[in-house]
Amino acid sequence: MPRAKKTDVKKTNEKPKAKALKLEKAPKKTEEEIAKRRANAPQTLRGMKDVLPADQPYWEYVRETARRLAREFGYQRIDTPIMEETGLFLRSVGKQTDIVEKEMYSFVDQGEDKITLRPEATAAIVRAYINHGMWNQPQPVKMFYIGPMFRHEKPQRGRYRQMHQAGFEVIGSDHPVVDAQIAQIAHLIFKEMGLETVIHINSIGDEESRAQYKEELVNHYRSNRSQICENCKKRLTKNPLRLLDCKEEGCVAVRAEAPQIVDYLNEISKNHFVRVLEYLDELEVPYQLNPYLVRGLDYYDHTVFEIMPVGEGNDLALGGGGRYNGLVELLGGEPAPACGFSWGLDRIILYMKEKDFEIEDRGEPDIFLAQLGEPARRHMLALFNELRKEGIRTAESFAKDALKHQLEAANKLGARFTLILGQKEVLDGTVLIRDMHSGIQEVVDFKKIIPELKRKLATPRPIRPKPVEVESEPEELEVEEDDEEDKE
Ligand code: AMP
Repeated sequence: MPRAKKTDVKKTNEKPKAKALKLEKAPKKTEEEIAKRRANAPQTLRGMKDVLPADQPYWEYVRETARRLAREFGYQRIDTPIMEETGLFLRSVGKQTDIVEKEMYSFVDQGEDKITLRPEATAAIVRAYINHGMWNQPQPVKMFYIGPMFRHEKPQRGRYRQMHQAGFEVIGSDHPVVDAQIAQIAHLIFKEMGLETVIHINSIGDEESRAQYKEELVNHYRSNRSQICENCKKRLTKNPLRLLDCKEEGCVAVRAEAPQIVDYLNEISKNHFVRVLEYLDELEVPYQLNPYLVRGLDYYDHTVFEIMPVGEGNDLALGGGGRYNGLVELLGGEPAPACGFSWGLDRIILYMKEKDFEIEDRGEPDIFLAQLGEPARRHMLALFNELRKEGIRTAESFAKDALKHQLEAANKLGARFTLILGQKEVLDGTVLIRDMHSGIQEVVDFKKIIPELKRKLATPRPIRPKPVEVESEPEELEVEEDDEEDKE
């Protein structure tokens, strides 16, 4: 770095302006003023939300559960781009579906390419399977993903425009055991997160079975045309299976008398479905047959299922999936049957929070380092690095001087122990260990601090460290420098 020459420094007779720089205390803002400021700041888009630090332990817990199950069942992670060519979704999800018709965030970019923010991940994973020649790998290929999806839906409880899905896909096998194992994973994920669920399951058969069924279904709805909603009238020609999905009162009544697809399944479809159910019985996965369940995407065939929470007021599906034997070929690959499911992270977290689900590991630090005076701060800076290397979760507030403020920070973060180093301790070569749960303090040789901490941390953490009221600073500490109140 070039050094400043002596001549560069302007000599001046002006008095230093130290006084003028002294910060004047700003008058306190009224709540009204604060609210106004907040309202004037840019806001998130409708249906999109920030995931704040306080909620991150839920997200981390949910993601880790997905990652662990993926490891246990032999699924490898795949990440595809958030944006894809719009055509990918038109071809796979289907032009006549709600997602494509109403919900996609699509735009034309600077290069005149038609782009869509992905509304779901399966289509892109199949694209990747084809693009990267994954049929050359041992089949089936098992992949899992986690990431944000975008759907321009009407925002409401548990329904967002940016939501997060995780999913499991198996490409390259048409064996019914695959469907059952996918459903088992779906069930396990929620079970391991403390949520009881039941799988609503149906078969929509293969194309041949569906063709005959659709005809009968349309006949039934046509003969009750006066009772069904305008949307369903359009569905009669556009997407008859979706008639079964309608929540309008008249349509629900017509559905109650509608023919059921199970009665139209050909031998292959029936056989496949029966075997899936047998495997589910064997795996003890609870399921409920739902003869009217169809999924909102065109690529499904045979098995379709949704994961519903058990209990009152639990009306939102947590996840859904099924078989998609034709999709790889539809997108230009060698035919490869496949099956998968996806689930919404936002929704499970919503349920967990509503049910006061306690996350055991909230990422709280084991140790908080508190210092009094500059020499102590330097010692603690070095110790922080040592603890970090030892894998001990350590927090600090080195920019603060007042011990009271540091202990408050330690409490807020939920640290298990706080190490306190003052001038006396620096001279003695000791350090204080304060148990934040009991408030008990003891003096320890500074050099022996790491084995001592390891010994203490080997005992289980109390359920939740009880915040200790910090009334005054511990008496035995001598403060070398001005322990002035920290200015925020
Ligand atoms: P789908 O592909 O539509 O069946 O969605 C699978 C799962 O993703 C659902 O069961 C929900 O848990 C979640 N999900 C779908 N759409 C939304 C949304 N708009 N907001 C939040 N979660 C969603």
